[in-house]
Amino acid sequence: MASRSAHSQSRPVPAEAQLERALHALRSLWAARGADPHLTRAAIAAYRDLIPATAATHEMEATLERGVDRLDRLPADLDARRTTIEQLAAELNALRPRLGLLQPTTEMGVLNIAAGERRAGRNPKSSQRQPAPQASLPVDASVTELNGVGKKQAELLEKLGVTAVEDLLSLSPRRYVDYRNPIEIGRNLDYTGDVLVRGTISDIREHRTRRGPGRTTMVIDDGTGQLMLTFFSPYIARQIREGSEIYAAGTVERGFGRLQMTSPEWEFVGGPGVALDHLVPVYPLTKGLHQRSLRKLTRQALDATRPNLVDWLADIRPFIDDTVWARLPSLEEAYEHLHYPADQHAATSAARRLTLERLILLQLGLVKRRVEHAATPGTAFTLDRESLDAFIAGLPFTLTGAQQRALDEITGDVTRPHAMTRLLQGDVGSGKTVVAAAVALVAMTSGYQTAVMAPTEILAEQHFRSLNSLYDALPDDQQPRIALLTGSTRAKARRELLEQLAGGEIDVLVGTHALIQDDVVFRSLGLVIIDEQHRFGVRQRSQLAAKSHGTLPHLLSMTATPIPRTLNLVLYGDMHVSVIDERPPGRIPIETRRFIGNDRGQAYDLVRTEVDKGHQVFVICPLVEASDTVEAKAAVSEAERLQNEVFPELKVDVLHGRMSSKQKDAVMTAFRDREFDILVSTSVIEVGIDIPNATVMMIEGADRFGLSQLHQFRGRVGRGGSKSYCLLLADAISPDGELRLDTMVATDDGFILAQTDLELRGPGDFLGGTRQSGLPDLGFLVNAFDTRLLDIARNTAEAVLDEHDDVTWQAFPHLYPQFRSFWATASTPDEGKS
Ligand code: ADP
Ligand code: MG
Repeated sequence: MASRSAHSQSRPVPAEAQLERALHALRSLWAARGADPHLTRAAIAAYRDLIPATAATHEMEATLERGVDRLDRLPADLDARRTTIEQLAAELNALRPRLGLLQPTTEMGVLNIAAGERRAGRNPKSSQRQPAPQASLPVDASVTELNGVGKKQAELLEKLGVTAVEDLLSLSPRRYVDYRNPIEIGRNLDYTGDVLVRGTISDIREHRTRRGPGRTTMVIDDGTGQLMLTFFSPYIARQIREGSEIYAAGTVERGFGRLQMTSPEWEFVGGPGVALDHLVPVYPLTKGLHQRSLRKLTRQALDATRPNLVDWLADIRPFIDDTVWARLPSLEEAYEHLHYPADQHAATSAARRLTLERLILLQLGLVKRRVEHAATPGTAFTLDRESLDAFIAGLPFTLTGAQQRALDEITGDVTRPHAMTRLLQGDVGSGKTVVAAAVALVAMTSGYQTAVMAPTEILAEQHFRSLNSLYDALPDDQQPRIALLTGSTRAKARRELLEQLAGGEIDVLVGTHALIQDDVVFRSLGLVIIDEQHRFGVRQRSQLAAKSHGTLPHLLSMTATPIPRTLNLVLYGDMHVSVIDERPPGRIPIETRRFIGNDRGQAYDLVRTEVDKGHQVFVICPLVEASDTVEAKAAVSEAERLQNEVFPELKVDVLHGRMSSKQKDAVMTAFRDREFDILVSTSVIEVGIDIPNATVMMIEGADRFGLSQLHQFRGRVGRGGSKSYCLLLADAISPDGELRLDTMVATDDGFILAQTDLELRGPGDFLGGTRQSGLPDLGFLVNAFDTRLLDIARNTAEAVLDEHDDVTWQAFPHLYPQFRSFWATASTPDEGKS
C-alpha cells in the first residue's frame, strides 16, 4: 500500500483527478457500508496518492494523514462509520479551494451520502460529465432520443437487438472489468489470471504488413516496471498516444524475455464510464460499435429513465415471499448495478432480479394456460379396471414403477371431465409405447377412438406394429381394432378405411400428417397421442383436436428428449408432465468407446466383425454448420469413401436432409429390411426408429455434437437382444469435447446427460435443439435455469392465479402492460384450444 505513493511520486497525477479518485473511493466505501476491507485499502491508497499529487502543505498533509488513520480504524457501529466517512468527504471537498480547484460542477462531485440514501443505496454515479444534459425519457422511447444517437448509430444498435431505451437498460454486459486495484508491474511476481495495470504509454510502434496495418505495440510504465502491450486493432494508435495514461487489463505472458499483454481491455484513466466506484461493463459488440460509446449510452439511458422507472413487481408484492422480496434490489438499483455494479455480487443480484422479472412473466403465462387447459371441458373416460388389468397381465413383462406411475397420472386425468394436456417424457427405450397403448385401451373401453400421430411413415408403421403386438395377448373380442393411414396408403384402401373410421369400426388410427386431412373424420375421437411432439406445429395439433365434434379430445404428447426439471418448467410449464425415469430391467448395456485420432482403424475392425455376425451399422457424419446442402454432400462423399476405400466388400447407403421424406422413408425401410449393411447419415436420422438388428452406432466428429444429441444417436442401437456398441470418433479434440465424450462413456442416463449438456453448453445452445414454438423471447435470461429462481417465479405465479382468475389490467395496472408485451413476442398461440 505504502509503495503506491512511491509510484505516484515518479509520475504525478493531476491534483483534480486525484481528489476525485479519493472521493470516489469514499463513495464506494460507503456503498459497501464501510465494511469492505478491499475498498478501505483502496481509499487509503487514494489518500496516500493525494499527498504528493496536491503538493500538500504541512497542514493539508496532516489532514490527509489523519484521514488515513481514521480509515484504518473505522468504527464498528454503522452510524459512527457513516459519520466518519461523511466527515472525511467533507474534509476532502474543503481542500478544493485551497488547491485552486473549481467547485464541483455537478452534484456528483460531492459525496452526497444523504442523496445516495434516498436513492435506496444506489451506487453513486461516475464522475464523467455529459456535454449537454439529457432530457428525461420514458423507457419505451426510441434510442434515437438519446443525445448523440443518429441514424447510423441506431442501425448498429439494432443489430444488438436494441431499439428502445429499455433495451439498453437490459443489455446485459458479457462481463465486467475492475479498474480499481491496479497491481504494480515491477513488484508483482506472480502473474496468474487477469491482472490490471495502470501507467503511462510510450514507444508506440505500428508494425505494418504489406496488406496494411498489422499489430501495434507500445510500452506501459507505472513507475515500478514496464509491460509491452500488443494490439491488433488498426486504429489503436489514433486513440492511445504517447504520454496517455491508461488502464490495461488482461493476462500477462512472458514472451521474448519480457512481460507482455496481448489485446488487453483498456481505458483512459478518467475515461467515460470508468470510475473507481464501480466495475466497468464489457458489452456484446457489433462491428462499428465500441465499448466506450456503449458505456456512454447506457450511462445516459440510466440517467434519463430514472425518474420514469415503474417497479411493476410491486403490483404482486403480496404474492412474493417476504425473504425473497427483502433480498431483491429495487428496479432502479438493478438496472444501475447491471451496468455499473460496485462489485460482482451487486451485478449478480441485479441480473437475478431482472431475470426473476422475466421468469415471473413467463410463469404467469404458462400457469394461466395450464389452468385454462385444466378447466377446458372434455370427455370423462370410465376406467374399466378389469380390461386394463387383463392387458397389463398379458404383457410379456411387468411394468416398471415409473411406467405404472405415469399410467396412473394419465388415467387420473382422462377420467375427469376436462381435456387432458399431458407430456410423457422418457428416455429412449424407457417404454412409453406400452403406456400409450394402455391409455388407448381405456379410451376404447369408454367408447372413444384414439389417433396416434408420428412424424414419419416409418415411425407410424413401427407404432402400428408395436401396438398390434402389445394388444396380442388380449382375447380377440377385447382387442382394439387398429389401422394405419399414411401418405402411401392406396386410394381404395384409404376410402374403405375412412368409412370404417366414420362408422366407428376402427378404435385406434395410427398415422402421419395424413391424419389431419379434411376428409379424415372420426366417429368419436377422444384421445390424441402425439409422438415426438416437437416435430409438429402447433397448428397441426389444433387441427387434429378440432376433429372431435366440438369436445376437445385428451392430448398425450410423448417425447424421448430427456430434459432437466428446470427446463421442463420453462418449456412445458403449461402442461402436466409425467416422467419415466427408470429403464426396464435386463437390458444389455451398450458399450461406448472413444477413438481419437489414428485409432479409427480399430473402430472399422469392430464394424467388420459385427457385420460378419449378420448385424448392421449406423454411421453419423460430422456436423457441418454451413447448410443442409453442404452437409448432404459431405454425407454422400463419406458414404463413397467408406464404400470404396474402407468397406468394399460391404453394402453402404446414405441418408441426408436434402432427401424428400418419401426418399428417406424408402432408405430407412430398406435398411430395416436388411437390404444393406451400413447406413451413413447426417444428423437427420430419426428419433425413435427401431432397427433391432443394428448393433453399431459409429459417430464421426463426435466431439462436435451436444451430449443430448449423442445420446439420441446411441439410443438407435441396443434395441435387439445382442450386445451393441457406440463408437465415438474424433480427430484433435478440444478439452470441452473431451469432457463430453468422457461423460458419454461414463453414463447412459439421459437425464444426467441432459443436465450436463445444459451446464456445458448453457441454456441458449441447449434450447436451440429443443426449442418449442409458443414461447416468448426469453432474452437475456442469464440465470433462467437457476432452480431457485424458477421455483420463486413458479410459486409467485401460482399464488397470483390462485387468488385472481386472470392477469388483468384492473388488478395489476403496472404489471399488465409488461405481461402483454412479454407474451406478444411468443411465436404462436398454444395448441389444444382453437
Ligand atoms: P420408448 O420409450 O423408446 O418408446 P418403447 O416403448 O419402444 O420405448 O420400449 C422399448 C422396448 O422395451 C420395447 O421392446 C418394449 O416392449 C420393452 N419394454 C417396455 N416396457 C418394459 C418393461 N417394463 N419391462 C421390459 N421391457 C419393456
Ligand atoms: Mg418410442
